[in-house]
Amino acid sequence: MLLPTLAPPLPVRWGFTTRLDDPEALPEGRVTQVHGCKVIEASRHPAEADGLWTSQPGLRIGIRVADCVPILLAGPRPSGQPWIAALHAGWRGATGVAEAPGRGILRQAVALYRSLGGNPRDLVWALGPAILACHFEVGEEVIAAARRDPAWREDLQNPGPRGRPHLDLHGFLKAQAMDLGLEAAKDGSIPLCTVCRPDLLWSWRRGEKTGRQWGWAEILPASQV
Ligand SMILES: [Zn+2]
Repeated sequence: MLLPTLAPPLPVRWGFTTRLDDPEALPEGRVTQVHGCKVIEASRHPAEADGLWTSQPGLRIGIRVADCVPILLAGPRPSGQPWIAALHAGWRGATGVAEAPGRGILRQAVALYRSLGGNPRDLVWALGPAILACHFEVGEEVIAAARRDPAWREDLQNPGPRGRPHLDLHGFLKAQAMDLGLEAAKDGSIPLCTVCRPDLLWSWRRGEKTGRQWGWAEILPASQV
């Protein structure tokens, strides 16, 4: 069962899985995710990366998460061919802290789309279920890394009940998306918190060290359109 989200106006199928999905039906893992911000063409696996893109019909690409944000993007290339991407964005990927401070994985992916001739305003995009501000207690070093991003706003953090900040990671990524020229009307994000919904979602922070949600996308072969 895929959670309902916005469908791109392209021959693309995509969505976010839940803990109710049959593990046999999940996509092939193509990369080793390392909480970085590298986005690679999907046929270049195996590799260490946290984002995949393709324009190849029939190639299902996905990333797995259990609190981090799964991000899906889809838009046309100048040739008319679809372009799709799946990204894994925890705070490290969203901030680019290790590799490119202030230029995290969503910025990397949209820059890549632009380099292929795409216009960011054509992208349909969706942030999947993740640990939301209600539960995402972080250290000050996380807020410091987020402040390097040009779209950062101080209202994206709030003091939590234990005195440590809570980061609104969805809100932070949406601020980046707006800054990058993506359109609010093409946002299919699903604001479900992984910690709040043990009935539906895996959560690493809640103590589930193995179960994962998938965000995946596939350009449909001509025979299925
Ligand atoms: Zn929550």
